Amino acid sequence: MALIWDNHACIPLRPDSTAIPEQLERYRASGVGVVSLNICWDGVSSDLALPMAEAFRACVKQHPDRFVLVETVDDIDQAQASSRLGVVFDIEGGTALKGDVAMVSRFYELGVRWMLLTYNRRNELGGGCLDEDNSGLTDFGRQVLDEMCRVGMVPCCSHVSERAAREVIERSTLPVIFSHSNARAVWDHTRNISDEAIRACARTGGVVGINGIGPMVGNGPVTVEGVLEHVCHVADLAGPEHVALGLDYDFELHDEGSATLDRQYYIPSTLFPDGFSIMPPERIKDLATGLAQRGWRAGEIAGFLGENLRRVARTAWKPRAAG
Ligand SMILES: [Zn+2]
Repeated sequence: MALIWDNHACIPLRPDSTAIPEQLERYRASGVGVVSLNICWDGVSSDLALPMAEAFRACVKQHPDRFVLVETVDDIDQAQASSRLGVVFDIEGGTALKGDVAMVSRFYELGVRWMLLTYNRRNELGGGCLDEDNSGLTDFGRQVLDEMCRVGMVPCCSHVSERAAREVIERSTLPVIFSHSNARAVWDHTRNISDEAIRACARTGGVVGINGIGPMVGNGPVTVEGVLEHVCHVADLAGPEHVALGLDYDFELHDEGSATLDRQYYIPSTLFPDGFSIMPPERIKDLATGLAQRGWRAGEIAGFLGENLRRVARTAWKPRAAG
């Protein structure tokens, strides 16, 4: 069976949550082989990153029959062969580093495999996509990027300003991804990215992960057809080997509604109508079916579902340290 890799999921950032096993189980039951769990973003306290990584790691270790901590590409093969869910982590915004470049390798050791440098707004690494001035990377941002490339943590440019994204793409020695960004040519939303950015990402060997966030997909509730419009646009523009999946399913939003988020600065309500929908992991198989109906070949569909991200991991991740 094809590897399914959902490269971004938002389980509520509560280290003491008892719901984590059942939330992870939804991915496993949906046939997902690898999921990337967010452990921190710039709109919450940077103190959350380490306890969240530990909480997720503890949950995975308590359920070795169902979940696997993925550190290497070989771990993915093992997870897939035993129908278990492989878990990696991601960070949205470099504020979690607290100004310390050395935290990059610490997070990598804990399983963080991609990080985006800024989250919608400027931080000490560079500019965000909602800033008016489209500023680039700072000196510290360049240092962090260089360190990410050294340790094997994939740079991500979702939420990053256009100029900073261009600078990341020019400087990075690893493939660069947009982990969860849709195509602006299909639907004009501030968080969606230009054709130029999609092509530039592809030139690094990276992928654009298509998200299932209703307001970024199109008008009205999210649909399989709506998501497929973005998948097909990126594949037609940059090649099917440069499109992937980053649904960004958000359990908090689903359970409690967007009104509980009081984060106007990082996530202005102008970006999202109230009560919008996000595609859940249970619908991933419908995306594969839809691609087959549109005439995509099996190898291309497998690429979108997970093989393209496996290729990025094989190129970027460093092998396990000896001893
Ligand atoms: Zn995001």
